[in-house]
Amino acid sequence: MNSAQPCRVVVVGAGISGLTTAYRLRKLLGPAVEIVLVEGSRRLGGALRTVELAGVALDVGAEAFLVRRPEAVALVQELGLGGQLVHPTPMAPSVRAAGRTRPLPTRTIMGLPGAAADVADLLSPQGLARVAAEPTVPLRWEPGRDAAVGTLLRERAGDELVDRLVDPLLGGVYAGRADALGLRATLPTVAAALDRGAGSLLAAAGAVLAAGSAPGRPAPVFATLRGGLSGLVDALVSAAAVRPLLGTPVCGLARTVAGWRLELGSRLLGAGEPDHLDADAVVLAIPAPALWRLLADPLPAASAAAGRVEVASCAVVGLALPRDAAQALPEASGVLVAATEKRLSVKAFTFSGRKWAHASSPEVVLVRASLGRHGEARVLQRDDAALVDAVRADLAALTGITAKPVATVVARWGGGLPQYAPGHGEVVAALERAIAGWGGLAVAGATLHGVGLPACIATADAAAHRIAGYLSSVTSAPRGGTMGS
Ligand SMILES: Cc1cc2nc3c(=O)[nH]c(=O)nc-3n(C[C@H](O)[C@H](O)[C@H](O)COP(=O)(O)OP(=O)(O)OC[C@H]3O[C@@H](n4cnc5c(N)ncnc54)[C@H](O)[C@@H]3O)c2cc1C
Repeated sequence: MNSAQPCRVVVVGAGISGLTTAYRLRKLLGPAVEIVLVEGSRRLGGALRTVELAGVALDVGAEAFLVRRPEAVALVQELGLGGQLVHPTPMAPSVRAAGRTRPLPTRTIMGLPGAAADVADLLSPQGLARVAAEPTVPLRWEPGRDAAVGTLLRERAGDELVDRLVDPLLGGVYAGRADALGLRATLPTVAAALDRGAGSLLAAAGAVLAAGSAPGRPAPVFATLRGGLSGLVDALVSAAAVRPLLGTPVCGLARTVAGWRLELGSRLLGAGEPDHLDADAVVLAIPAPALWRLLADPLPAASAAAGRVEVASCAVVGLALPRDAAQALPEASGVLVAATEKRLSVKAFTFSGRKWAHASSPEVVLVRASLGRHGEARVLQRDDAALVDAVRADLAALTGITAKPVATVVARWGGGLPQYAPGHGEVVAALERAIAGWGGLAVAGATLHGVGLPACIATADAAAHRIAGYLSSVTSAPRGGTMGS
């Protein structure tokens, strides 16, 4: 492109994916290019949000990221935040199922063990016998096949392993149910081992576990930032040197002769505010329902693919309890709760001060509860005070703690987590194929190749490179950006 011409790139959505895209674009394109970050809500960060509860930083969205994938740690270090990286304490998590709370088995892939003995503590003798017999059940598996995790596992190993371990673990990550989530997207290494010829699910998990086990002390699996993940949001905005437009939902996208036109929602626009933005290139870093709406006109095939990804809503409730409550807290970093525990509303508690050394305080004990599974919106359909009451009742049932919190916070994540159904990879491939011919358009975010922060960052890096490549390949100058009303 002719670098003398003004150029504007619009990034829609200011979650980790949009923020990372904007930052990476700035690094790739330099200071001359105008990068506009358009965010529908009034705050930056999307599912990253740190609040101060009774004087202690608490993440009420994502709270940590995997360090076994490189992207998040690399980004943190690149932004100069490496000194703030912290790992969880050695305190182990537990799981509540069949009326008992037990340590979470450690040698599994999302609850799938390599050997039945590794989950013996959680299952009845009959349940354990079904798991032990799984390798003897003939497996019809063709490479590339996909199946719902729960359905496949129930057929082969009975219900208990799913209900007591696999479903609670998947629910913790996806707010989804094992019977609806696809094996290939949620346990990709197990699917790959099956593709390579593993004769059973246990054999596949065993192969993955054996490949991953290195001698010596186990390396930490997760990390976060000492002051909370909003620190990453702040660093990205500042390094990206972008102009964020907050409270500005994009409600339409159209192809123009020279690029793209984005219609800006009028909900929060004051007099004189622009109602559209023209851009040479656009990155959509927004959840699947928003992608579905925005792509419907310009790219119906991409829109249809996005429309096939359902989303789940969830909520996080933080309680700051008086310090005395610590004595009654179990010796665990938290507890996952099986959906079969019908009397409990919460799907997981994190005992934040036990899990993270930096979150412990001499005055209060922080407890973080998660609620909401796909298809069970009813749990969330109560006001904040009722949600806090439900969390307190569950905490009392599990730990005996009835102390009144000194402070509480409720964060709701409507449609916050995409559901990776069987065949999710094909849906995403269809979406990516549909936009492949449009060099000035890219998509990033949790809808695509993983809901975790490292996977989102990877999609953002790819989107930024795609747009930078497109802009540098455009020889005739695109029109300069205009805003209009
Ligand atoms: C409660 C919770 C806990 C989680 N815990 C973890 C964890 O511990 N570790 C981990 O790795 N992952 C975790 N995740 C997943 C991870 O946080 C998310 O997958 C990731 O942050 C998604 O980032 P994103 O930028 O793709 O989307 P989002 O964060 O959803 O951001 C999308 C943004 O787009 C905006 N937007 C939507 N439509 C429009 C529009 N039309 N116009 C303008 N803006 C629009 C939204 O307001 C939002 O700010 C968690 C998720 C949730 C909800």
